[in-house]
Amino acid sequence: MYTVLPDSVQVRQSEVNGRGICTKLPVRAGSVIFVTKPYAAALSTPSLSSHCSSCFALSSTSLLRRCTKCRIAHYCDFTCQTQDWAIHKLECTSLQNWFKAAPSSDIAPPSDAVRCLSRVLWRIQKRGADTIQVKKVEISLPDRQSLKPSAYETHTYLSHSLVQYMGLSSPADMAQYSLSSAADLLDTVSRFVTNTFTVTDPTLVPLGAAVSPVVALINHSCDPNAVVVFPRVSPDPKSQEPLMHVVAIRDIYPEEELCSCSILTAYIDATLPTNLRQQSLNEIYNFKCMCHLCTMVEVDPRTCLNCPKNCGGLCPLPSDDHPLVRCAKCNTVVHLVDAALDARRVGQEGLDKASSLQTKDPERSLRLTTNLIPILTSAGFPPSSHPLLGLTRLHQQLLTASFPNPLTQEHLDETIRTATKNVTGLVALLREGHPVLALALTELGKLLAVDEPSPRLADAQNPKVSPKEATPASLATYPPSGLPRLQLAYQTLLRARKMLLVGFGVVNEGGQVGKEVREMIVALEKEIGVFKQGVRNVLEDTRKA
Ligand SMILES: [Zn+2]
Ligand SMILES: [Zn+2]
Ligand SMILES: [Zn+2]
Ligand SMILES: [Zn+2]
Repeated sequence: MYTVLPDSVQVRQSEVNGRGICTKLPVRAGSVIFVTKPYAAALSTPSLSSHCSSCFALSSTSLLRRCTKCRIAHYCDFTCQTQDWAIHKLECTSLQNWFKAAPSSDIAPPSDAVRCLSRVLWRIQKRGADTIQVKKVEISLPDRQSLKPSAYETHTYLSHSLVQYMGLSSPADMAQYSLSSAADLLDTVSRFVTNTFTVTDPTLVPLGAAVSPVVALINHSCDPNAVVVFPRVSPDPKSQEPLMHVVAIRDIYPEEELCSCSILTAYIDATLPTNLRQQSLNEIYNFKCMCHLCTMVEVDPRTCLNCPKNCGGLCPLPSDDHPLVRCAKCNTVVHLVDAALDARRVGQEGLDKASSLQTKDPERSLRLTTNLIPILTSAGFPPSSHPLLGLTRLHQQLLTASFPNPLTQEHLDETIRTATKNVTGLVALLREGHPVLALALTELGKLLAVDEPSPRLADAQNPKVSPKEATPASLATYPPSGLPRLQLAYQTLLRARKMLLVGFGVVNEGGQVGKEVREMIVALEKEIGVFKQGVRNVLEDTRKA
C-alpha cells in the first residue's frame, strides 16, 4: 500500500507508539531513509512572488513568469508552469473569484493552509476519492469528536475560508469533492492539519505548507532520530521538487522487542521546554508525548539556572515537588529564585512581542531583544534556557537583517557574539548533526569569515593565539581579529560541514548549504595561507631592515 517506501522500512503497529514506520536494516546517521514528493504543497503568501509555485525554487521576481490570469502564481519557466497547470487551472479560477469578491483591491490571497488544502481537494476530485493516496490521508485521522476546543475553532475557521475560496456553497458543490456535509469537510480539514508539514528552503526558512500522508506516518519524539528536510539537490531543478528527504541523524538499529527501530521525527520545536512542547502536541496532534525528554528526572537545560558558584552545574527551576533550587552538581542553594522567575516571565512576554514586531517594526523588535537578553543573563539563565535561546536567535536575525552600509566592526562583532551564544545554547539541546545546529554553526562560521571593517592590529600582529589556547583575557575581546579570526571561521565551518552532511544527508553532500560551505572552506584555506605568507614577508622585511 505504501508504494513510496523503500524495502528497508515497514509500517508497523506497536503497542507503545501506535502505527509508525520502522527500519528493517541498520541505518547510519546521515543516511537518507526515503525521499517523497508531497501530495500537495502551497507557497506562503510572502513567498508567492519570489518562488516558483511548482518547484518552489527561489528566483528574482523579474525572472519568474507570472500567471497572466490570476497574477499570483509565478513560475521558473514554461516547463514548471505546464507541470502545475492541471491543478493551477482550478486554483486560478478560485483566486480570480477571490479577488473579484474582495472588498478592496489590496486584499491578500488566502493563507497557504487554505490554498494547500484546496489543492488536496482538487487532487481528490481529479483522481477520485478512493485512490490509495487519499486512503492514506484518511487512516491517520484523529476524529473530530476527540479534538481540543481550541483546535476545533481553528479547524472551523479553516473550513469557512475554504468554503468561501473554493465556492462550496451547496451540497452539490461539496459532492464534487466526495464531501457529504459540512461535518465531513471539517473532518477532512482535521486530517489535513495533522498531516501538514512546513516546506523549508535549504536553510530551513519556511516557504509554505505541504501534505504528505506517508511522512505523517512517522511517529514523534522530542529527541528525534530523524529529520524531514528539503535539501534541494535534484540534478534537474524542474524535476520533482519540492522533495521531502527523511534523514537519520543518528544510527538506528532494528530491534524487534523494544521497537527501537522506529523512525522518529520531532513534530514541534524540540528546543522548547517540556510544558510548551506538550501544549503544542496536545493542541495540534492531540496526544501526550512520553519520550525520555518529556519524562526525564535530570536537569533540563531548557529550564534551569546556572550554578551561583559557577561550578559548571545547572540548577533546575522550582516545582511543586522541589520548591528549593539547588545546583545539581555541587548542591549550592540558589537564592533570588523569585527574581529569576520574574525575569523569565518578562523575557517570555518580550519574546512574544519582539517576534510579532520582527517584520512590522524591526527597530523596536531589536530594542526589545537588546534590553531583555542582559536581564535574563544576569538573572543566571544559561544560553540553552527558555526564553533566552529564542531571544538570542531573534536578536541574531535582527542584527543580521540590519547590517549597516558600510558595515561597522562593532555591529559585526556583536552579531558574532550573539551567534556564538545561539550555538552554545543549541549544543546543549540538540544532537550533533541536527540540521538546526548545523545551520547555526554555518551562520557563525560565515560571520567570522566576513572581511573585518577595522581589524584590531594587536591580534593581527600576534597570529599565534589559536582559539583553543585562548586565555580569559583574550575571551574578553571575543571574537578575535585578523588571522585567529580566520582560523576560528575555518574550524567552525569544518565542524558545520560535518554536521550538514548528517542533517541533510551524506548522499546529498549536506544539501545546497553543505556544498556552499565546502567551497567556503577551500577559499578560507587559501586566505589563511596568504595571510601567513604575508606575516612571514613582513617578518623577513623587518629582519632585513
Ligand atoms: Zn520552477
Ligand atoms: Zn493563475
Ligand atoms: Zn517528548
Ligand atoms: Zn554548582
